Amino acid sequence: MNAETIPLNLREIRTQAGLSLAKAADVTGVSKAMLGQIERGESSPTIATLWKIAKGFHLPLTALLDEARQDAGMQNGVYKTVQFPGSIAVKIVFPFDPQLGAETFHVSLKPDQCHQSQPHDTGVTEEVFVLEGPLEVLRDGDWVTLMAGQGVRFAADQPHGYRAGAGGAAFLNMHHYRPRMQRAVDGL
Ligand code: MN
Repeated sequence: MNAETIPLNLREIRTQAGLSLAKAADVTGVSKAMLGQIERGESSPTIATLWKIAKGFHLPLTALLDEARQDAGMQNGVYKTVQFPGSIAVKIVFPFDPQLGAETFHVSLKPDQCHQSQPHDTGVTEEVFVLEGPLEVLRDGDWVTLMAGQGVRFAADQPHGYRAGAGGAAFLNMHHYRPRMQRAVDGL
């Protein structure tokens, strides 16, 4: 991913929403200083911060990660992996489709890595399909173990998480958003 992708996407989303940095801080819970640093490319946001921003704007994660927003010539299938330092690696497989209200990511975890996620926006459902396992998934307050080829669907508007075994893990991660969010995206 181009280093400019997230800064440009955030600035575009915020200005099109007509929000000052201070107002954007109010709706996302991310400080005005941090939002400004991200927009200026002075700070690389964590995946948790990106999710807070997406939730605050009622947007899919794709809206922040999608290089195509800033590069009209880009075609599906050439997205690059975003390795969040000390955290998971995320790559867009299918960017957000407003008709379907869905987006798909490829997520990989290093050996024994655990990633916990805060609740996403109301009504977001996730599906996890394991490519390389085993993978433990925290959903509905319990950890379940999935082998390669197995999947699980759960409500992601509550705390959830993913934990790899000694060999690391990789999975497809589908997000399904409710119609309110689709309208927000159509308005962009
Ligand atoms: Mn999640």
